[in-house]
Amino acid sequence: MIAARRAYAKHPAPGYVSPVERKSVELSGIAVTNTAMNKPPVEDPEFERWPPPRAVAQAERIMPSWPITIWRGLCGRCPQCGAAPIFNGYLKVHETCLHCAAPLGDMPADDAPPYVAMLVVLHFVALFVVLFYNGVYRPGLLVAGMLLLALAIACMIVLRLAKGAIIGILLKLGLKREVPNE
Ligand SMILES: [Zn+2]
Repeated sequence: MIAARRAYAKHPAPGYVSPVERKSVELSGIAVTNTAMNKPPVEDPEFERWPPPRAVAQAERIMPSWPITIWRGLCGRCPQCGAAPIFNGYLKVHETCLHCAAPLGDMPADDAPPYVAMLVVLHFVALFVVLFYNGVYRPGLLVAGMLLLALAIACMIVLRLAKGAIIGILLKLGLKREVPNE
C-alpha cells in the first residue's frame, strides 16, 4: 500500500494540476517552456492507482419502489417486471426472468429466507409454548399432531414468501453473487 501511495504521488490522477504545474502554466505565457513538466506521465503497467477504480461498473437496473419490489417478491413474481414467476418449482429460482431477463439466479439469498421464516413462525410457536406451560391450553394427542403439521406447512409457506421478498431486495440493491453458483 505504501508503494501504491508512492506511485500515486509520482503519477497523480489525470486532470490533477499541482500548484507547481499551475504556476508553470501561468508562467508559460511569458517565457517558460518546460516541456518535460507539461508532458502527461508515462503509463506504467505496474502502476496501481489509489483508490483503485471499481472493477465492474454497476449495471443500471430500473426497479420499482421498495414496497412494490417486496410485494412482487412475496407474491413470487419477478421483482423487476412482475410479469413472470421467480420460482421454477417450490424454491428453485429461474436463472433469469423469463420476461425481462433479470438475473434472479445470481441473487445470493443463501440463509436469509430460512432465518426470516423461523423468525416469523417461531413467534407463534412461542405463544403456544407459553399457553401449554401455563395450562391454559392442553391439546390432545391428535390436535397436537395437527398443530405440528400446521407448523411444518406454515414454515414451508413462509420460507417461499421470504425467499421471494429477499430476492427482490437483493435485486434492487444490486447485490450479485461474486462467484457463479455451481
Ligand atoms: Zn422480470
